[in-house]
Amino acid sequence: MRLSTRLLALAVTACAYPALAEPRDATARVEALGDGVYAILHDDATDEWPHGNTGVVVTDEGVVVIDSCYLPSRAKADIALIRQITDKPVRYLLNTHWHFDHNNGAVAYRDAFPGLAYVAERESAGWIELNQVYWSKMTTAPDSAKRKGLADMEKEVAAGKDAEGKVISPEELTRKKSYVERRRSELVELAALTVVEPNVTFDQQLVLVVGGRRIELRDAGRANSPHDVTIYLPKEKILFTGDILVQSPLPFTGASWPVQWVSVLKEIEATPITWMVPGHGPVMRDHAYTRQVRALMEAVTAQVEAQARAGKTLEQAQAAVTLEDVRRSVPAWSPDDQKEDWGVIVKVLVERAWRGIRGQG
Ligand SMILES: [Zn+2]
Repeated sequence: MRLSTRLLALAVTACAYPALAEPRDATARVEALGDGVYAILHDDATDEWPHGNTGVVVTDEGVVVIDSCYLPSRAKADIALIRQITDKPVRYLLNTHWHFDHNNGAVAYRDAFPGLAYVAERESAGWIELNQVYWSKMTTAPDSAKRKGLADMEKEVAAGKDAEGKVISPEELTRKKSYVERRRSELVELAALTVVEPNVTFDQQLVLVVGGRRIELRDAGRANSPHDVTIYLPKEKILFTGDILVQSPLPFTGASWPVQWVSVLKEIEATPITWMVPGHGPVMRDHAYTRQVRALMEAVTAQVEAQARAGKTLEQAQAAVTLEDVRRSVPAWSPDDQKEDWGVIVKVLVERAWRGIRGQG
């Protein structure tokens, strides 16, 4: 009798606090951050393009989604994952910044949930529309660099040899075949892309209260893009940073603003968190990585300024500033196979810092 009472109590407990669902599919996995908040982490779309992380907030009045991937097929698959978590409809799609890997998939949400509020910072909304049109047209033109790159790779796979005539190993051949498939699908999707412009825009900040949950959108300013929006749940202390923070495993630095990025990161460090979801890479529990990215931005800014004061040219500064010591100080960045990519991101960062410190951008 005593035993069955205990079992009944356990059953009641299990019903009241169901285990958090973490569905997954072949190329994405859901991570429960607690209290109806989730992150969806994706494999890269192709060997050239990633999908941004997606956030999911379930409320009594429907679901709020943050960012919608690079390809609509992935966003559609995310919707299937979300439906395994809740049967509530998606009411809001929030955008962190204009880059394609965070918003090309918006059409999947609009088609699945008519009446959806698609929210973005005002200038970013215009860039989303313009750049999606541009990118899909430019990349799918008959003579595009993307089509040429695919044709070259198809040729290599068919011959079993690389561009220099060297035989490709069986493992590499399998990998390249998978890249070819993904790049073909990418081109098909981009050629058919329906561009969806955000229908709710804001300047500086917007506070949403959905199903009793408070969600704060704030334009943090220039960092990885001209208007990087952070999305914060103050009660749950969960922060979505967009590409202000990326651990992929290196940060994304193209067309960025390293000088202003430093103060944006300081503000993020001052935000209390239980969970933080970067634009790409694993979810985080503290600001250790935020500080490491800030140290990178501070180092590049200081060293580029020293180069300018010494009368060096941009090319000389790019040759001199390698930031190898910074790379080696961060475990995620220090493996030897990251060295080449590090050289690429630092070169871009030095060019952007060169403009920033001299009042040119
Ligand atoms: Zn991104």
